[in-house]
Amino acid sequence: LRMEHLEMEELITVIAPLISSEAILHNIEFDMQLEPTPLVYADREMLKQVLWNLVKNAIEAMATETNGGKLTIRSTWQEREGLVRVEIKDSGPGIPHYLLDRIFDTFFTTKETGTGLGLPICQRIINDLGGKLQVTSKGFGTTVSVLMPGVKI
Ligand code: ADP
Ligand code: MG
Repeated sequence: LRMEHLEMEELITVIAPLISSEAILHNIEFDMQLEPTPLVYADREMLKQVLWNLVKNAIEAMATETNGGKLTIRSTWQEREGLVRVEIKDSGPGIPHYLLDRIFDTFFTTKETGTGLGLPICQRIINDLGGKLQVTSKGFGTTVSVLMPGVKI
């Protein structure tokens, strides 16, 4: 583990070309709205892994159920809570409400070749870093948010 102070905006910018090329392959429009935020304290590679896993889920959701779609990544600073929020939003089919509390279960997957490990691992990593993962889905589209304590140094 190599803990350091990181800028989410910079981290997302670094993986953006990878996301872009994956999005293009699936006819998905990719948009970024990055606000400067305070730093977060984390292992760089782990955080990249988390973001990539969430992006992959978003793209997979749109690639299978619908033809194309829109992926948006936003970073914002929630001053009152002291949290840096990174939202990964897709226009896929969404998650039925009765499945919302199962998607974090180890091995839970609705995909033929899924492992069901992505979300539980992401959640574990973010929790260990003092943050949390939030999922909202209301019939259409899904937004997964990574919330991390912001550090002002
Ligand atoms: P896997 O991707 O291998 O299925 P995950 O733990 O990453 O495992 O995700 C578990 C399940 O949560 C997925 O199979 C899918 O049903 C649901 N899911 C996760 N992200 C999304 C999303 N963005 N849109 C719709 N369903 C999702
Ligand atoms: Mg996954």
